[in-house]
Amino acid sequence: MPSLDAPERKNMNTEISRGKTARVFCIANQKGGVGKTTTAINLAAGLATHGKRVLLIDLDPQGNSTMGSGIDKSTLAHTLYGVLIGEATISEARVHSVTGGYDVLPANRELSGAEIDLVGMEERELQLKHAIVSIADQYDFILIDCPPTLSLLTLNGLAAAHGVIIPMQCEYFALEGLSDLVNTIKRVHRNINPELSLIGLLRVMFDPRVTLQQQVSAQLEAHFGEKVFKTVVPRNVRLAEAPSHGMPGVVYDKNSRGAQAYIAFGAEVIERVT
Ligand code: ADP
Ligand code: MG
Repeated sequence: MPSLDAPERKNMNTEISRGKTARVFCIANQKGGVGKTTTAINLAAGLATHGKRVLLIDLDPQGNSTMGSGIDKSTLAHTLYGVLIGEATISEARVHSVTGGYDVLPANRELSGAEIDLVGMEERELQLKHAIVSIADQYDFILIDCPPTLSLLTLNGLAAAHGVIIPMQCEYFALEGLSDLVNTIKRVHRNINPELSLIGLLRVMFDPRVTLQQQVSAQLEAHFGEKVFKTVVPRNVRLAEAPSHGMPGVVYDKNSRGAQAYIAFGAEVIERVT
C-alpha cells in the first residue's frame, strides 16, 4: 500500500522528535563560490526526503538560498533582516518552500544593512540565537547558509549553532583557508558559544580525474580523520542548473549523481548527530 507510506512515516517522525529541540548547523566557509548555498539547499531537501522537519535560514544578503528554494526574494513582507533587528518574529517571516519540502527564513539585499543596525544593539551577536528559541521545537534541523565573510552576520550564525559543516573544494589553497576557519570556530567556542563544534568537512565539486584533488582529499583525511564526511559530492551540472528552476538539485533531478550524493549526505548527517 504505497499511499500509506508517507503519512505513516510522518507520524513516526513527529513521535520521535516531539519535545526535542532542533539541531542547528551553520554551513560556513569564508571563501565565496565553494558550494555553501548548494550544500545548504540540497542538505535541507535531502533531510526533508528522509522525513525530517527543516528550517533553512538564509544569512547571505545575496539571497541565493531563498531564490534557489523557489521563493521570490523581491516580494517578501518580512525577511531575516526584520527578525535580526526585532521587527518581526521567525514565525512571521518564514516561508514554506513548496519545491524543497522545508521552511525558509528568507533574505534579500536588505540584510546587508543589518550589520550597521546591529552594531548599536546590546548582545548584537546573539540576535539570531534569541530569535530561534521560540521555533526550535518545531524542527529537527535548522541549517544556516552563511555569507562568505567572517562578519557580524556570520558571528550571529555561529553563536546560534551547535555545529559547523564546512563544504570545500579540494584545491591547493583549501587547507590554508581551512585553518583560519577552524581557528574562528575555536574562538567563538571559547568566547561566545561553548556548544559550538565542528561537525565535519564535506568535499564538494569533486572530480576524481584531477590528481591534485585526490591528493588534497587524502591530506584532508590524514589531517581531520573522522571529521571528513564519507559522502563526496561530485561536480555535477544538474546541481548548478537547479537554482534557475527555483528548486533544489535533489528535487530537480533526483537521479543525478549530485542529487544522490546530497541524499546520502543527509543520511550521513542524521547518523552522525542522532
Ligand atoms: P557559495 O554559496 O559558497 O558561494 P554556491 O553554492 O553558490 O557557493 O556555488 C558556487 C557555484 O558553483 C554555483 O554556480 C553553483 O551552482 C556551482 N556548484 C556548486 N556545487 C556544485 C557541484 N557539486 N557541481 C557543479 N556545480 C556546483
Ligand atoms: Mg552562497
